[in-house]
Amino acid sequence: MLSVPFGVLEVQMATRMNDIEDEGRGRRQMQVGRVLGLFYAGGAVPCPVGCGGASEVVRVGALATGAGELWVECGSCAQRGRFAVPVATEPERRAVESALRDGKDVSCPRHAYRAVLQRRGRGLVCPDCGVRYRE
Ligand SMILES: [Zn+2]
Ligand SMILES: [Zn+2]
Repeated sequence: MLSVPFGVLEVQMATRMNDIEDEGRGRRQMQVGRVLGLFYAGGAVPCPVGCGGASEVVRVGALATGAGELWVECGSCAQRGRFAVPVATEPERRAVESALRDGKDVSCPRHAYRAVLQRRGRGLVCPDCGVRYRE
């Protein structure tokens, strides 16, 4: 059964996230904030297990909650991990709505570079970070 190994892989990654969480909430938030800061600036995301290498985003998830998730793989140690991306804030949603009204191509307000939002059903989702800006 193909679904079994994938399920196991997901559990292992979830455990790793919990391990990071157990190190203390303040420290974890700093770490995630730093990672997202680098990511949104267009820079390299650090290794999810902290080997010092740089990782590559291998998959971008768009969650039902409107939040995104980044699945990354380290180029040095090949470990994989997941970084949660927070949902759009009210000012971000408003910026997207007003750009839509102006008839512009709407890009995700978080990136230093231009990431044009894609329609998914009636929603608008960033292809690079998975955040949804419109229901
Ligand atoms: Zn690594
Ligand atoms: Zn984005």
